[in-house]
Amino acid sequence: MRKKIVAGNWKMNKTLQEGIELAKGVNDIVKKNGAKCTVVLGTPFIHLTEVVKTVDANLIKVSAENCADKASGAYTGEVSAAMVKSTGAEYVILGHSERRQYYGETDAILKEKVDLALANGLKVIFCIGEVLAEREAGKQNEVVTSQVKNALFHLSAEQFANIVLAYEPVWAIGTGKTATSEQAQDVHAVIRACVAAQYGAAVAEDTTILYGGSCKASNAKELFAQKDIDGGLIGGASLKPEDFYGIIEAYN
Ligand code: PEP
Repeated sequence: MRKKIVAGNWKMNKTLQEGIELAKGVNDIVKKNGAKCTVVLGTPFIHLTEVVKTVDANLIKVSAENCADKASGAYTGEVSAAMVKSTGAEYVILGHSERRQYYGETDAILKEKVDLALANGLKVIFCIGEVLAEREAGKQNEVVTSQVKNALFHLSAEQFANIVLAYEPVWAIGTGKTATSEQAQDVHAVIRACVAAQYGAAVAEDTTILYGGSCKASNAKELFAQKDIDGGLIGGASLKPEDFYGIIEAYN
């Protein structure tokens, strides 16, 4: 059975103190009410160490939102995969559309980041998704499969087992415009078929594919009920414990 995951992506929100409060809040509510999925908190780099210390490791996993495409050295301001790993974080989010769009991260750069993350023992939540113009031109399947192929298909099947995919239609991120469960399922099925063509049906069956884009408590249940949707990557609704738990609860 593939893993069901609900992962928060705090983006560039919360001071360190606010982040610790938020992590504590999520931990308390999960401890009290339970979770039938893996819960991950994706936080800014500076929060990682404290958030790892704040949460119960058996209840909540911690993720960075990015890492460098170089191993170490004179790259002022960058944070390496080894540094992320040394905080106790288990995951790193790579390829988020905001990184692709605002920081020029290409498939080639992301390939380097993926390799370094895996070499340092991190699991990768790898984001893919089309922009509105691509959706309107009916190119969403082509876009997501090429993003997956270009950045990930050099991996062995063994390495690929540490990849979680997150389909995030860019037009749905932070816009309040969620993809319908049917639109999301259609693309998830295409992604899974693409993984199957490269690695075989068994690997594809075991691959967790998350949906992201204005996911909230009111639509999570319907989205997560789709055959090829295995949870969510959550931005805005991960910034308050009750909102985030409302999504986690979709699996209870
Ligand atoms: C995201 O940025 O990964 C995301 C899904 O954001 P939101 O939930 O706010 O649309």
